[in-house]
Amino acid sequence: MTMEEFYQESLGLSQPWQVGRVELDKKAGRVDIWLVHPDRVRWQCPCCKESLGVYDHIPERVWRHLDTCEYRTYLHARLPRVSCAKHGVVQVRAPWAEGDTRTTVAMESRCIDVLKECDVEGAGRLTGAGWGVLWEVLERAVARGQRRKKRYLPEYLGVDEKSFAKRHQYETLVVDLRRKTVEYVGDERKETSLREYFAGFSVKARARVRVVAMDMWDPYIAAVRKEIPGGEDKIVFDKFHVLGQVSEAVDAVRRQENKALVKEGDDTLKGTRYLWLSAPEHIPEWRRSEFEALQMKDLKVGRAWAIKENLRQLWICGSEEEAESFFQHWYGWARRSRLAPVVKAAGTLKHYLGGVLRSVSHRVTNACIEGINSKIETIKKMACGYRNREHFKTVIYFHCGGLSLYPSKTG
Ligand SMILES: [Zn+2]
Repeated sequence: MTMEEFYQESLGLSQPWQVGRVELDKKAGRVDIWLVHPDRVRWQCPCCKESLGVYDHIPERVWRHLDTCEYRTYLHARLPRVSCAKHGVVQVRAPWAEGDTRTTVAMESRCIDVLKECDVEGAGRLTGAGWGVLWEVLERAVARGQRRKKRYLPEYLGVDEKSFAKRHQYETLVVDLRRKTVEYVGDERKETSLREYFAGFSVKARARVRVVAMDMWDPYIAAVRKEIPGGEDKIVFDKFHVLGQVSEAVDAVRRQENKALVKEGDDTLKGTRYLWLSAPEHIPEWRRSEFEALQMKDLKVGRAWAIKENLRQLWICGSEEEAESFFQHWYGWARRSRLAPVVKAAGTLKHYLGGVLRSVSHRVTNACIEGINSKIETIKKMACGYRNREHFKTVIYFHCGGLSLYPSKTG
């Protein structure tokens, strides 16, 4: 078998394409394959499928293909153009690639596989494709998925803000809580960031929304009130964000107390941030006794922590009524703590109590929001924070959009 025959077989070329010539450069570690077609072949106009003769050929193009035996492999071809009465002079499609790509369909699919598992730098090392090519693959995959996707407004929504770059830039994420997919990424975290999303749907579709789970963030609340019929009663402040409010208060107490202790030469609280903020089940075995010892001490942060942990019982309550009476007790305790950040957080929860209590009857939303959040944190860590807004969006849609990303077999 010659190299030409080998590639003719393994590339699975469709008629009338054939392998004309193969060049192997062992030193450079690459194989170049020239694809040709016989003369006097009829071609289809890509727009109307009309069968036509060759008008002319465009200059040679090169596509990166899957490696063969660790040799970087490239396809070369001059694509014919046809002259269609309806569509003018148009270039025919290459069956091995989609549109203007620099990679074959097979290579592009491989890149998508690898990009699903690691970041762009890692994918570059594993596939040998450059940074620019991989970003093109990402962007095209997302655009392809969005084109194929049927537009709909989910009944159970989650709205969240995500910071990127150096913290002060935000994106607004809309999540389908049932499918666990990110449906929309809007710029900033303003009222309009969310209203723009709802504006894309009819009033009838918006009326079908049952739950919008979110953080206690007034611009989002305003957007839901204005755009969703009966929106006020559909807002749910989920467990993740409610506990988040109180956790921030615990952290503020810890910082203040640590500062005061350090001044007296006491570093009891040094390196303990993680312990106070984690769910107890996430604290590693080897730090448990250290944490228990800290809890025995008469620390302000210890009291704040106990108040936070007690609040978890809200979501064990069997009804909103039961939850409300639990909350009133908890609120009294938090107030009496006289720890300013805790008192303030408790006041915030009381102010938004309706939505907090609704999270008790919509428990299913809680786990999903936490799941999506941790997924996005992982994505952020993977690329050490995206500095570019558009790149951040693309990657979120790529990993969390539930999109059909792969190119179809023939372009
Ligand atoms: Zn045509």
